Amino acid sequence: MQRQLVEHEKLSSLGLLAAGVAHEINNPMAFVTSNVRLLSRDLAAQPQLPEELREYVDDVLPATLDGIRRVNAIVADLRRFARKDPEQPVEFDLNAEVSSAWRLSQGERKSRCKVELELGVLPPILGQPRQIGQVVLNLLVNAVQAVPGQGGVVKVRTRAEEGEVVVEVRDNGVGMTKEVLGQLFQPFFTTKPVGEGTGLGLAVAYGIITGHGGRIEVESEPGRGTCFTVRLPVSGEAPDPEPPTREQSSAGPS
Ligand code: ADP
Ligand code: MG
Repeated sequence: MQRQLVEHEKLSSLGLLAAGVAHEINNPMAFVTSNVRLLSRDLAAQPQLPEELREYVDDVLPATLDGIRRVNAIVADLRRFARKDPEQPVEFDLNAEVSSAWRLSQGERKSRCKVELELGVLPPILGQPRQIGQVVLNLLVNAVQAVPGQGGVVKVRTRAEEGEVVVEVRDNGVGMTKEVLGQLFQPFFTTKPVGEGTGLGLAVAYGIITGHGGRIEVESEPGRGTCFTVRLPVSGEAPDPEPPTREQSSAGPS
């Protein structure tokens, strides 16, 4: 219990920090973004460009815009991480959120594999539908990034269990070592190259799911794949905290 409290406080002060940083970066970035866009448009429209400026149009400005896009993506992640619950919880259909996350993941430019979708019959649950959709999307993006180009399979499934609805995201990708499993919910923990991962996806997911009185479990084996299981209470009420029953399950930030 004590550990949970400490974790909660750590997460909320991190949330405040993230919100502050996102806010401070956002304004200058909006300014930089629009100026660089204008500059590249104006330069590209010049009929006779001196050779030394041509390099800017062809290489420097596109690379700069790419860098800007990355920073903006990180800021967007930070904001999602920092977001507090402003809205009243509503009753919603989890399958609808899973389906739209699934559609988004399939639309993603980088999506390298098909994701199989299997929806069970579910009772409605209480909470923030968009936040839950974000969690499923974060899990799907990770799964898609983890599988090989050839033979990669990602499956997302929903089902009802006693008093709970369950979403499972399973992949046959790279899997995780014990070291990675011990840290994966920590904000900013990532094994991905700079620019590809911010290490916030699972921290966001953890915050949202525990905020809904639910749990995230993970089973993974290096080289074989990973399965994330999200469990949410049907009533919308938090169940009594229980110790994890399965090995490697319910890892949390420490
Ligand atoms: P990011 O995706 O930006 O790295 P996340 O918080 O989403 O941040 O994930 C943290 C880390 O957990 C990833 O960098 C990766 O090492 C590991 N991870 C998450 N999901 C999977 C998965 N499905 N398969 C293998 N590793 C994963
Ligand atoms: Mg991620």
